[in-house]
Amino acid sequence: QSQELSQVQIDYHAALQALVEDGTRMVCTGRMHTDRICRFESLCYSTEAEEFVYFHSNSSVMLPNLGSRRFQPALLDLSSVEDHNTQYFNFVELPAAALKFMPKPVFVPDVALIANRFNPDNLMHVFHDDLLPIYYTMQQFSDLDLEARLFFMEGWSEGVHFDLYKLLSNKQPLLREQLKTLGRLLCFTKSYVGLSKITTWYQYGFVQPQGPKANILVSGNEIRQFTKFMMQKLNVSLEESSSEEYIVVFSRTINRLILNEAELILALAQEFQMKTITVSLEEHSFSDIVRLISNASMLVSMHGAQLVMSLFLPRGATVVELFPYAINPEHYTPYKTLATLPGMDLQYIAWQNTDREDTVTYPDRPWDQGGIAHLDKAEQERIIKSTEVPRHLCCRNPEWLFRAYQDTKVNIPSLIHVIRQTVKSKPGPKRQKWSGSLYPGKVRDAKCQASVQGTSEAKLAVSWQIPWNLKYLKVREVKYEVWIQEQGENTYMPYILSHQNHTFSENIKPFTIYLVWIRCIFNKNLLGPFADVLLCST
Ligand code: UDP
Repeated sequence: QSQELSQVQIDYHAALQALVEDGTRMVCTGRMHTDRICRFESLCYSTEAEEFVYFHSNSSVMLPNLGSRRFQPALLDLSSVEDHNTQYFNFVELPAAALKFMPKPVFVPDVALIANRFNPDNLMHVFHDDLLPIYYTMQQFSDLDLEARLFFMEGWSEGVHFDLYKLLSNKQPLLREQLKTLGRLLCFTKSYVGLSKITTWYQYGFVQPQGPKANILVSGNEIRQFTKFMMQKLNVSLEESSSEEYIVVFSRTINRLILNEAELILALAQEFQMKTITVSLEEHSFSDIVRLISNASMLVSMHGAQLVMSLFLPRGATVVELFPYAINPEHYTPYKTLATLPGMDLQYIAWQNTDREDTVTYPDRPWDQGGIAHLDKAEQERIIKSTEVPRHLCCRNPEWLFRAYQDTKVNIPSLIHVIRQTVKSKPGPKRQKWSGSLYPGKVRDAKCQASVQGTSEAKLAVSWQIPWNLKYLKVREVKYEVWIQEQGENTYMPYILSHQNHTFSENIKPFTIYLVWIRCIFNKNLLGPFADVLLCST
């Protein structure tokens, strides 16, 4: 034990010396605060001031060196939610010499990932804002391995889903409150600050009404790599395809209820001739839910955070999302967007209650559970009469909350009808062969030859070779798109061709320069890049 202590002593003096001499070193990726992640050596945190501290010395580095633009509005977003003003990261600066007058630093030896969780009590937020972004931030930087330690700085307590966060690394994640117990001045030997937003698909409506992100960069493949990791950590193994097919109804037990759940389960079982089971976050362990969903043919649930569990559905399965009265499914699409990501290979169906008779409202509940009693009478009347919640910003729109927390008696024939429009025979995981989509490369050796007939007619013979990657692929259909553009004109003539050469004579004039653009197309919609443009003079 004494050896261990002395080891710590030696490390401590070396670390302290390094801090005083070298100061803090920061190098970031990203051009703006919304896409920035920073790597630090010797970033410190004062638990008294609740501020990160950057120490200047002769060897310190700060890239980007933004000057006061670092505060406009921040150096970076600590959570994966874009540009949210409660989630900004910055540090205060001090000369390293000030360490002489400060509390003795306590060094954190683990490589640290420092970030904010956005809303750790809501399962959709847990997966979309935290778990997936943390997982892929760790994939981005190789020293963020399973021995790295997560530091959550948002200031919340563990929350109900903390066990999920623990799966991401072998070390216990630490919360802001716990840092105080470690010391007054913490110094992270090596740390990364910020989260990758590359996997997020939804914006919650802080500046414009909620909807899919404008530029989604994640596909089902990466989502499924993540769920595979989570299932391994949860000790849930994928069962063989031989086992019985079944439907899962994911129910809520506190609010936004399905009032005729028993009837619904019976009807689904009968219609699809499949066993139908219910799960809920209140009554099942998380691994049991994952185990059940990962082999299900269909998942049926009220709109709500629990639907993010469709992450775990097998390819080919169907998601049925039920919407209460006056809630337009097109306006709330986090789970539709997820299910329809390219490569998720899920079928998505929305059903909405359109019958006022089938809804039970709770006007007298507290406002955050959808109550409207606190509003003036006229406004209450208007909300009660309204047949659709108008688009709105997050997060406290009373009309939205009122409608979102209704209970619903599901109209069974109407629901079955909607499902049957999409699911013709049996729903369920098709053990389909890999239908991954690979794109063509450029066509090669493109050439053109012009010939002029008299003063008004000309021909352009164009030929090319197949893209290099095609000879290693089995592709159902290979086509070529050729654009012929007269030099200096904005328009062009497009052609879709099956062969590797073609002679163009329509609208080809003599003594003219044409630009010829060629690309390959696999299976109708996989468009390759254009080859270098060909210049052809008739
Ligand atoms: N929740 C639940 N059962 C309920 C109500 C809520 O499991 O009866 C969970 C829900 O899945 C989410 C969290 O509690 O993880 C917060 O629910 P809320 O209704 O606030 O959010 P929403 O589901 O509308 O996103």
